[in-house]
Amino acid sequence: MIKPSHARDSDVPRADLKGASLLAVFAHPDDESLAAGGLLSLCADSGVRVSLLCLTHGEHGPGPDGIELGEVRAIELVEAARVLGVHDVVLLDHEDGMIPSIDGALLEADILGAIDRFSPDVVVTFDEDGLYWHPDHIAVHERTTAVVAGLGDSGPALWYVSMPEGAMRAVIDAAGDHGGRANEILGVADPDAFGSMARTPSLVLEAGPFAARKLAALRCHHTQVDGGALERIRETDAERLLGTEHYRRADVGARGEAFIERLSCT
Ligand SMILES: [Zn+2]
Repeated sequence: MIKPSHARDSDVPRADLKGASLLAVFAHPDDESLAAGGLLSLCADSGVRVSLLCLTHGEHGPGPDGIELGEVRAIELVEAARVLGVHDVVLLDHEDGMIPSIDGALLEADILGAIDRFSPDVVVTFDEDGLYWHPDHIAVHERTTAVVAGLGDSGPALWYVSMPEGAMRAVIDAAGDHGGRANEILGVADPDAFGSMARTPSLVLEAGPFAARKLAALRCHHTQVDGGALERIRETDAERLLGTEHYRRADVGARGEAFIERLSCT
C-alpha cells in the first residue's frame, strides 16, 4: 500500500506535475465530487490537466418537483468542476439508470473518444463495487476497463476508486441523526452501503487539505445535497470525514509508476 506523504511543512514544495493529465470517467453529476473530489482538486493544484467524462445528466435521480432535473444537474456539475479545478467537462446524455442496458460498443466509443481527445496519463473510474453496487457505476467500471485493456501498454494507467468503509456512516453521525431523507447521502438511504464490499486499496490518498474544497464541490449539487447529511456537517469536520480516498490500480493499462503515486498534499 502506498501512502503519499502529507507533511504540512510549507517549505516543502508540492510535486510539480505540469504536463501530466488525468481523465475521470463517471456516471452521474456528483460522482466526481463524492468519490474523487480530493484527488481531482489535488491534481489540478499540482498542475495536472484534469478532465471529466460524465455519461448521464442524472435526470432520474432525486430532486425537487417542477424542474428539468437533467438541465439543473448539468449546471451543478459545471459549478462543482470549477470548484475542484477540473479543466474540461464532457457531459453526455445517456439515460440515467440505463447504462447497463446501453450498447456497450456505444459507451466504449464515447470513453475511447475522451481518451483520444485528452490523452490522459491516468484514467480514474469506479471500482467493481460501483461505490455501493450501483448498476450504472458497475457498467461504467466494466466499459472503461474494456477500453483501457484494448489500448494495451500504450494506453493510460487505470485506477479504480472506492469509498472507505464506514465513511458515510461517520457523516451521518456527525450531522446528527434526523431520520428519513435528512439522513441520505446523495439520495442513498443506507450509508453503510458505501464501501461495504470494496476491494483493498493499493493507494490511500490522504487529501485532508483538499476536503473543504471537496465538500464545497459536493454542495454545488444542490438538488442532491440540500436537506441531506452532507449539507449539515461542519466544514471543520470535512478533513476528518471526507479527506481520505481509496484507489486501486487496475490489472490493465500502462505499467510503471503513475504520477498519482507521487502526489503530496504539502
Ligand atoms: Zn452515480
